[in-house]
Amino acid sequence: MFDRKRILLDLYSRLYEAFGPRHWWPGDSPFEIAVGAILTQNTAWRNVRKAIDNLKTASLLSPDALYHLPIQDLAAVIRPAGYYNIKAQRLKHFVEFLFLENGGDLEGLLTEALDTLRNKLLSIKGVGPETADSILLYAGTRPTFVVDAYTRRILFRHRLMPQEASYDEVRFFFMDCLKPDVAMFNEYHALLVHLGHTFCSKRNPKCTECPARGWNDE
Ligand code: SF4
Repeated sequence: MFDRKRILLDLYSRLYEAFGPRHWWPGDSPFEIAVGAILTQNTAWRNVRKAIDNLKTASLLSPDALYHLPIQDLAAVIRPAGYYNIKAQRLKHFVEFLFLENGGDLEGLLTEALDTLRNKLLSIKGVGPETADSILLYAGTRPTFVVDAYTRRILFRHRLMPQEASYDEVRFFFMDCLKPDVAMFNEYHALLVHLGHTFCSKRNPKCTECPARGWNDE
């Protein structure tokens, strides 16, 4: 039985040493972070930034303002984030959920039991596990691991997970091996994204220059 904990800690150390802290997730409030987690689906962060700046400039970055804003107006404001009609619907579903569950108070809601809250977030139309875990970890500072396509690819290429592994299997792989450490989960996911973005691309991985070169090769 290979030592999965040691292997995962080894990758973390390599990445932290190579890249340093990533300072995730940018945002001035838990609500801004949650909105960013919804807007970032299938788009680059720079486009999300523009959409959030638009919301801020128009004084719309609050649960109350988004709740009362007509959906077509919301779509127009978040247009830079792409898929703006779908994302406007998702934001509406999210704020409606907030008002239904806790009178629009996200921070209060984020103190609920982790599994219960995760299941509630997953019940919102348009919120999948990556978005739910991003909200929980980065907006709520709750100890859950966020899995994305880069994470799956890196584990697969290093023979730690089959290509067809589910989101929950990959999440469990990390959470079963590592202590529930919010700061580490925060940094680890950000480092994996940076690794995927800079070295482990889909078509041309730059293995010879990569800080993960030789990882889990024993
Ligand atoms: S680029 Fe190569 S060495 Fe780096 S994580 Fe991807 S597969 Fe591993």
